[in-house]
Amino acid sequence: MVIIDAKHIVKIYGESNEDGSTTALGGISFSVKKGEFVAIMGPSGSGKTTLLNILSGIDSPTSGEVIIEGKDISNMRVDDLALFRRQQLGYVFQEFNLLDSLTVKENIILPMILEKKSAAEMDRKVQSLTELFGIEDIQNKYPYNISGGQGQRTAVSRALVNDPQIIFADEPTGNLDSKSSETIMECFEKIVGELNTTVLLVTHDVFAASYCQKVIFIKDGLVHSEIVKKGTRKEFFNSILDNLAVLGGRTYDI
Ligand code: ADP
Repeated sequence: MVIIDAKHIVKIYGESNEDGSTTALGGISFSVKKGEFVAIMGPSGSGKTTLLNILSGIDSPTSGEVIIEGKDISNMRVDDLALFRRQQLGYVFQEFNLLDSLTVKENIILPMILEKKSAAEMDRKVQSLTELFGIEDIQNKYPYNISGGQGQRTAVSRALVNDPQIIFADEPTGNLDSKSSETIMECFEKIVGELNTTVLLVTHDVFAASYCQKVIFIKDGLVHSEIVKKGTRKEFFNSILDNLAVLGGRTYDI
């Protein structure tokens, strides 16, 4: 079942600027199936973040449609979109975005408070997510007293707390060392494998992308190619590197 259907997405920044406009996305179409684990890769400036922001309803396209679970979010009313995002989508960012004045547990339950869930339900949810991600022992610590890897696992738990259909992640391993990157990618694998949540991430990190089932390469605001994992993760890693080499461009920040 298709869960995200991007139809000819165009994004032009600064259309009314006198000093010229930038076409960040030139007409992107692709789809993602429910329970798929997909990475978007491409050179710096190719439009990855713009694309993720549009697919996740953070930004709107200049033209084109984003259909999520059969609903066209590009034409939704602002308050309907806000509710849809809160209930159906989860977000993970490079900089974790945890609130320093709240404990790990409080950070995780914050989206449940907005949804007015019961205290018992919050406790149950925090317990199951922190156990799943191996952070149950740090629930009462504050973000400045935990490691980067634990911080990102807290952020992933927070993103999952209202049982979203899709998790969008922008460079989730960008601030992590290699061991913590491995752990966080294993967390995403669990989300896909055990909760059947769809995960779409943007990354420069070939190692992180090799955990995914599919990589979509974009260049100059267009889909360039797409590869699907067949053999081992190591084989997929090499195949991603080969595709990046073909893609060319300025930097990959590998
Ligand atoms: P990537 O994530 O692949 O590095 P981006 O989506 O950030 O690419 O940017 C794609 C293009 O759009 C770049 O040329 C960038 O300079 C431009 N761009 C991104 N955000 C804005 C903005 N808010 N205003 C104007 N131009 C932007």
